[in-house]
Amino acid sequence: MNTSTRADRKDFSVPLLRGQRALVTGANSGIGKATAIALGRAGADVVVNYVADRPAAESVVKEIEGFGVRSYAHEADVSQEDQVVGMVSRMVDELGTIDILIANAGLQRDASLTDMSLDSWHKVIEVNLTGQFLCAREAVKEFLRRGVVPEVSRSAGKIICMSSVHQIIPWAGHVNYASSKGGVQMLMATMAQELAPQKIRVNAIGPGAIKTPINRDAWETQQAEADLMTLIPYGRIGVPEDVADAAVVLASDLLDYVIGTTLYVDGGMTLFPGFATGG
Ligand code: NAD
Repeated sequence: MNTSTRADRKDFSVPLLRGQRALVTGANSGIGKATAIALGRAGADVVVNYVADRPAAESVVKEIEGFGVRSYAHEADVSQEDQVVGMVSRMVDELGTIDILIANAGLQRDASLTDMSLDSWHKVIEVNLTGQFLCAREAVKEFLRRGVVPEVSRSAGKIICMSSVHQIIPWAGHVNYASSKGGVQMLMATMAQELAPQKIRVNAIGPGAIKTPINRDAWETQQAEADLMTLIPYGRIGVPEDVADAAVVLASDLLDYVIGTTLYVDGGMTLFPGFATGG
């Protein structure tokens, strides 16, 4: 075991991710934005991926640069193979390598089953599931090429798949989204099993209800928020920073022995709160 890395790991005056290079997809809004900023604060250089709204991405870059680390914005649609290949290869050129991938980009196109178009089905699967596959594949090629650099991290690379409580909770009216996240769970676990021998750590985060643009309907009105609260034992809606902080720790060597798991950041939503008083 490399003692200097271990010592760094336990020295909380050293930023947890010092010297690491991270790619966050969908990083100009919501959870991705908060995570990119938190990774920068923890000492990582950060590539801020976006697909639309460059000014929003540039303002995230500015905030990250304020921590004295490198950052730039990169436009790419994660569901397009050539764009993902180009994004990771530019990162290797400009930052030297990639140590952390936060596969976060995602969207919803909600409809009841009978109203759902094939186009909406494909779109959500392509961004939420195929996008994570493509980003992970390209990151892993670089992890394998570079291997473990003990001064940087105990592992050869970390992938965090942004999943959802809906990888296990069925969700009427969102069959494309729930299916994509169920797929992400198995994508994550299979990659984790396949890559652990190469010292690559793959895990997921399963957010519950986090206040972002993706779920505005669920918290915008008082009634909607009250309804939502019946599903959250901890009694508050989550904020992007709840997920961002979890991602920093999960990506760090503090959790070096955590492989193939989903960390639910959900205020207890996955605890079947409907059974608290009955069932
Ligand atoms: P958000 O809408 O604020 O952010 C989603 C980001 O993904 C945006 O930056 C968007 O532009 C980007 N994106 C969409 N399609 C893309 C594409 N093709 N290529 C690149 N980027 C693309 O929503 P959010 O809540 O921050 O969602 C982030 C992730 O968290 C998603 O995967 C979502 O499924 C997951 N999640 C969110 C919640 C929640 O309650 N907010 C709960 C569970 C899971």
